[in-house]
Amino acid sequence: MTLRILVVGAGISGLAAARGLRVAGFRPDVVEELPASMLPGAGIHLPGNATRALRQLGLDAPLRPLGDLIFRQLFLDSTGEPLFELDAAALWAGVGESRALSRADLQQVLLTGVGGEVRYDTAVRDLEISDGVAKVEFSDGRMQEYDLVVGADGRRSTIRTKSELGGPAVPTGQIVYRSVVNGGPRISDWTSLLGRRSSFTVMPMGSRRLYCYADETVDEGQPNPADPEKRLRELFGDFGGPVPAILDAIEKVQVARTDEVMLERWSTGPVLLVGDAAHATAPTLAQGAAMAFEDAVVLGEVLRATPDDIPAALAAFEARRKPRCEHVRAQTHERDNARDVAPALRDPMLRRRGREMFGDQFRELVGPM
Ligand SMILES: Cc1cc2nc3c(=O)[nH]c(=O)nc-3n(C[C@H](O)[C@H](O)[C@H](O)COP(=O)(O)OP(=O)(O)OC[C@H]3O[C@@H](n4cnc5c(N)ncnc54)[C@H](O)[C@@H]3O)c2cc1C
Repeated sequence: MTLRILVVGAGISGLAAARGLRVAGFRPDVVEELPASMLPGAGIHLPGNATRALRQLGLDAPLRPLGDLIFRQLFLDSTGEPLFELDAAALWAGVGESRALSRADLQQVLLTGVGGEVRYDTAVRDLEISDGVAKVEFSDGRMQEYDLVVGADGRRSTIRTKSELGGPAVPTGQIVYRSVVNGGPRISDWTSLLGRRSSFTVMPMGSRRLYCYADETVDEGQPNPADPEKRLRELFGDFGGPVPAILDAIEKVQVARTDEVMLERWSTGPVLLVGDAAHATAPTLAQGAAMAFEDAVVLGEVLRATPDDIPAALAAFEARRKPRCEHVRAQTHERDNARDVAPALRDPMLRRRGREMFGDQFRELVGPM
C-alpha cells in the first residue's frame, strides 16, 4: 500500500523521521518553513544511544569522520577541582560511540538520508482531520490530503496546536548560552564546572574547535540578558579550570530559553507528534537528538508492521516511546535539581556519590529502545 505521508519540519527530528520512513519503504513529503540556506550554528553532543539509532537508520558511516569522540565526562567544582568523572566509553560500550560535532555537519548527514528532498520556504498553516484523513493547508495556499502527518515542528509546534494535542511549551526557568570557540585551550574531555544554579560545559567538537554550553536557573519574569557575552563573563568570570582561557577566546554567544513539552497523547487520528513537538526537555542530558533518532527508528518499524492500520501503528509508537521519553524528563529534573543544591552541600555529596548517581541516569537508555 502506498501511504501519503507528510513530515512537517526539517530539523533533527523531521529529517530523522523522513529517513526512518524511507528505510521502512515509504516516500514521505517533507516541508520546512525556513529557507535551505539557514544552517544551525553551535555544536551538539550525541551520547551512545544516539549513535546506535543513527546506525539503525544507516547513517553512522557518514557521521564517523565528523567531530570528536567523547571518552570521559569530567565534573568539576567552580574552582576547577575534580568532583567525579563518568567513563562514557564504558557506559556506552556495545551501544555506540559518544561524539560532539557541529550541528550544521549533523544536518548535512541527515539530509543525505532523505535524498535532499525537502520543500523549503513552505510552512503548514492549517490542518483538518476528517474520515481518518488529514487535509493540510500550506503557506503557498495549496491544500493536500495525507494518510499520515508527522509533526516534527519543534517545541512551538503548529501541528500540536492545530490537532488539539496540547498547548504551548512550558519554560524550564533556564537561560542557556552557546558558543563555538576556535583555538582556545587544549581540551580533550567533555568537562563541566558546576556553580551556584549555573554550569559551564565545554567539549572538543573537531577541527580544533570547542563547543561551550552554559546555563543558569533564573527566577520567573527575569528577561534574557541584553548582552550575552557580558552576562557569561559575569556568571563565570571567577570560575577556575579551563574557563578563564575559554572566556578570553569566546567571540560570539547565542542565548536561548529552554522549554518542556508534556502531553497526555502524541497522536490523534492520522496525526503524530515526534521529537521536541512531543517531548522537549531541558538539554541537560543531551538526549534531544537521541530521542528524535529513536523516534525515527520506531516510527518506521510500527508503520511497516501495520501499514493498513495507522491508528494501531501510532498507538504502538506511543506505547514504545512514551515511557522512555518520560524517563529522560524525570532524569533531567533529577540532574537539574541536584545541580541547583547549594555547592557547600552538593559538592561533598557529588565527590562521594556523583559517579553512581549521574551514571545511573543513563543506565536505562543503554538498554534497547
Ligand atoms: C541550548 C540547547 C542545547 C542542546 N544541546 C543538545 C545536545 O547537546 N544534544 C542533544 O541531543 N540535544 C540537544 N538539545 C536538544 C535538541 O537540540 C533538540 O531536541 C532537537 O533539536 C529537536 O529537534 P526537532 O527537530 O524536534 O525540533 P527543531 O529543531 O525545533 O526543528 C523543528 C523544525 O520545524 C520547522 N517548523 C516549525 N513550524 C513549522 C511549520 N508550521 N511548517 C513547516 N516547518 C515548520 C522549524 O523551522 C524547524 O526547522 C539542545 C537544545 C538546546 C535548546
